[in-house]
Amino acid sequence: MPELTDECWMRVKGRLRAEVGDAIYSSWFARMELESLDAETARISVPTRFLKSWIESRYGERLLSCWQFERPAMRRIDLSVRSAARTSPPCAVSPPPVVTAPDKRETNHFHSDIKVAAAQASAAQDLHGGSPLDPRLTFDAFVVGRSNTLAHAACRQVAMARRSDAVMYNPLYIHAGVGLGKTHLLQAVALKINNSGERHALYLTAERFVYRFVSALRNQTALAFKDALRGIDVLVIDDLQFLQGKHSHAEFSHTLNSLLDGGRQVVVVADRPPAELESLDERVRSRLAGGLAVEIGPLDEDLRLEILTARVALAQAHHPGFSVPAPVLAYIARNISHNGRDLEGALNRLLHHTSLTRQPITMELAERELKDMVRPPELRRVRIEEIQRIVARQYNVSRGDLLSARRTANVVRPRQVAMYLAKTLTLRSLPEIGRRFGGRDHTTVLHAVRKIESLIGNDTTLAAEIEVLKGQLQE
Ligand code: ADP
Ligand code: MG
Repeated sequence: MPELTDECWMRVKGRLRAEVGDAIYSSWFARMELESLDAETARISVPTRFLKSWIESRYGERLLSCWQFERPAMRRIDLSVRSAARTSPPCAVSPPPVVTAPDKRETNHFHSDIKVAAAQASAAQDLHGGSPLDPRLTFDAFVVGRSNTLAHAACRQVAMARRSDAVMYNPLYIHAGVGLGKTHLLQAVALKINNSGERHALYLTAERFVYRFVSALRNQTALAFKDALRGIDVLVIDDLQFLQGKHSHAEFSHTLNSLLDGGRQVVVVADRPPAELESLDERVRSRLAGGLAVEIGPLDEDLRLEILTARVALAQAHHPGFSVPAPVLAYIARNISHNGRDLEGALNRLLHHTSLTRQPITMELAERELKDMVRPPELRRVRIEEIQRIVARQYNVSRGDLLSARRTANVVRPRQVAMYLAKTLTLRSLPEIGRRFGGRDHTTVLHAVRKIESLIGNDTTLAAEIEVLKGQLQE
């Protein structure tokens, strides 16, 4: 019963997320996929060897115990590394592709025809130990709209340049929230360059970068790694926010400097602007900010509709019977907001449904199938002044107290709460919040946020107070 397996897997992931917290979960577990399941063994795949060994060594027991909670007979978790271009369909017992997990891509559904063309590009990529490229993530498949025009144009520019051209933006730094097309653009750049045959691009996730570096050190081939980098015209790094560890930072800094100084193009992607990559060295941050930094904004409804329409057309190439009525597409575009990944997931669900039942897709069906993906409407924008005013009133201090240098307990806690709310309810950066709280340093804000986060885990009164404050602010 695929449905049941799927639900069970969702619950296991939910439990794990609750146990380790959102940040750790999304760093290490978000890309797990359940490959198969029997009474005693769950086979799970992850995209990189680095992730596999990390999860095995640090979270193996915990993952098993989360499973045992659902299936007491479970004895073993079998982790494997999946390849990007999976050719065979998933085995019969695995769940249907509810594609909400990041990077879950149905190679067998879309675009298998261009796989061959891209095999070449991937081979070049493998040779240098890069992360796998997904042949479907091309510029052609990328829909341009208001929120990503600039990022798209800059990436195209980089991809189309000739070796003899002067490097224009270096580094090119793109930041955006999850599912807004960062990886898609980066892979399009790498594919385009490697298919041109004139230049070499190396696409690495930050995890992969660390993994390559760590294993190079272990095997005493750090020099070989550096040599390999030297043969690269364009280095493309995805998800820089996941770069962890002192050594890796130092090595990244070194690599970045030598590539930039050598006039080689670097493209970096992260989920936040350079100034907010707290763990990076100040000099690295300023080097990253020294090229062109571009943000991709949320996908607006028109763009979402276009992406959906393009996806349906692609799917139809392989599934001629697949058709989604315009009102259903409009419904998805309206209700599944902000994230390209969820759009893809929603369509895959419908596609799966039609291929299993051969029923036409109707509005009722879409509403029923996608119920859990539809989010409540966006919360109203909250201003920092308002947060300060409401928190001050709640704790019976003045707004001036919150901004002052006073460090008495009756002011410190409310101030931390207000900073925490400012970070969670607004899009302001830590330095900006610091400035708005009487010119404090961003590390003070970070400390406050972490403090409150750790307190609300145990202190139910505080947690409830914060819920009340949030409610008031979002009324
Ligand atoms: P990110 O790396 O920013 O988290 P991805 O690049 O993985 O996001 O995008 C998530 C999904 O949404 C992918 O399937 C991607 O192809 C799709 N997507 C996002 N933006 C666009 C776009 N502008 N045009 C077409 N597809 C898009
Ligand atoms: Mg990505």
